[in-house]
Amino acid sequence: MSSLRIARCFSTATHVNGFNGAVGNTPLIYLKSLSERIGSRILGKAEFQNPGGSVKDRAALGLVEDAEEQGLIKPGGTVVEGTAGNTGIGLAHVCRAKGYKCVIYMPNTQSQEKIDLLRMLGADVRPVPAVAFENPQNYNHQAREYAESLTNAIWTNQFDNTANAKAHYRTTGPEIWEQTQGKVDGFICATGTGGTLAGTGKFLREKSGGKTQIWLADPPGSVLTSYINSGGKLIERSGSSITEGIGQGRVTDNLATFVNDVSGAFTVPDTDSIAMLYELLESEGIYLGASSALNVVAAVELAKKLGKGSTVVTILCDGAYRYQSRLFSKKWLESKGLYESIPPHLKKYAVL
Ligand code: PMP
Repeated sequence: MSSLRIARCFSTATHVNGFNGAVGNTPLIYLKSLSERIGSRILGKAEFQNPGGSVKDRAALGLVEDAEEQGLIKPGGTVVEGTAGNTGIGLAHVCRAKGYKCVIYMPNTQSQEKIDLLRMLGADVRPVPAVAFENPQNYNHQAREYAESLTNAIWTNQFDNTANAKAHYRTTGPEIWEQTQGKVDGFICATGTGGTLAGTGKFLREKSGGKTQIWLADPPGSVLTSYINSGGKLIERSGSSITEGIGQGRVTDNLATFVNDVSGAFTVPDTDSIAMLYELLESEGIYLGASSALNVVAAVELAKKLGKGSTVVTILCDGAYRYQSRLFSKKWLESKGLYESIPPHLKKYAVL
């Protein structure tokens, strides 16, 4: 009998409640070929299986429900956020499911697929120039100001509202603990808001009595690798990355809840992330976005550091569907100097 039929026979679940009930409880995927090659267990949390397609569904639901619990938003209200995409998509779904209006400010550098999807989900999308956080025109400040100008509206503030990290502390961490039966030597992922790393990391660290090491994976251009590896003394920014949704220029309030317990950090070059993206498609049949591939490169590094037989968990944040016009386009990859980093036998996947 196929494993799918076995799973169906033994399933006791009947249903979940709507979109919001379907968030979380994602599978933990054993990445077989990589694991066998290095003699450790690399496990990827399949966050692309959330109903809105990314890890950010958890934060979106957590932020809105926290505001409801505090009485900050009432039926018919408006949710406003500044987001590079996935949080907006999660919020647009949650808002439809709960009957709120959704307004999204985003930097105008984001992929067209993400903008189109937000509009199809009924969000009012407002692309604004991509300027640094220090600039008052930054998309986050514009989102806050707009929410403040309305009544019965909230700015979910994913970067500095710690309800984001708490959602991962309540769900992602316990799920990983249960799925590994407590055998998790390392957890590593990249950060945008820091919610996933801080919330999941805090839970695993506490539950393991400090045994699970928590590491950060970073794209070039982020300040966090130097910040963490220098014990919080040095903030340096160099390079840039094609990965969307990750990398930071500051320690957000979400990251700050856990940053002192992060054991170390790796910066992963885009050349390695792209090569891994294609390798995971070839060897595992999984179609991932670039931040997931970066996470897996870093998980392999961490497993090598922790030694043979170690178990390292990372996050498979979203699928490639939202970025395919870039990540699977020979011309686009060439324009970024990344096409040649794809191993020759995997170039067949760059079909666009
Ligand atoms: N990967 C992708 C594709 C994302 O959109 C995000 C969130 N911006 C992350 C990773 C990082 O998640 P977090 O905000 O929890 O740090």
